[in-house]
Amino acid sequence: MDVFDKEKRSWIMSQIKGKDTKPEIIVRSIVHRMGYRFRKNKTDLPGKPDIVFKRHNKIIFIHGCFWHGHKKCKKNINPTNNKIFWEKKIISNVERDKRNVILLKKQGWKILIIWECQIKDLDKLKTKISDFMTNF
Ligand SMILES: [Zn+2]
Repeated sequence: MDVFDKEKRSWIMSQIKGKDTKPEIIVRSIVHRMGYRFRKNKTDLPGKPDIVFKRHNKIIFIHGCFWHGHKKCKKNINPTNNKIFWEKKIISNVERDKRNVILLKKQGWKILIIWECQIKDLDKLKTKISDFMTNF
């Protein structure tokens, strides 16, 4: 028996699949249009960053709000069933994310985390990305 209703389930599955989920495609196309060259899903770096700008020493992570435990976020819904399982899972994801950021920073990378819910406001998102790419 399914613990989630259909809609919630397909949404969660889209979080789990990981590669080339919609928010990543949107962010990549913005970055691409800005004229930056990047690599995607670099498996030799901690956390397999979604977008890597080697020349700039910069990394963008695109995080699903549920899967990566975005605090106080509407998309970070609490499943009513298997609550403890999911809470444990999400907490370990958040801790792993934190560890990866620390490791990457030690290696000299600058990091921007874009949350799935921030994709809705494209203007704001573009400003955020261009600030990240031009500052530091
Ligand atoms: Zn969020």
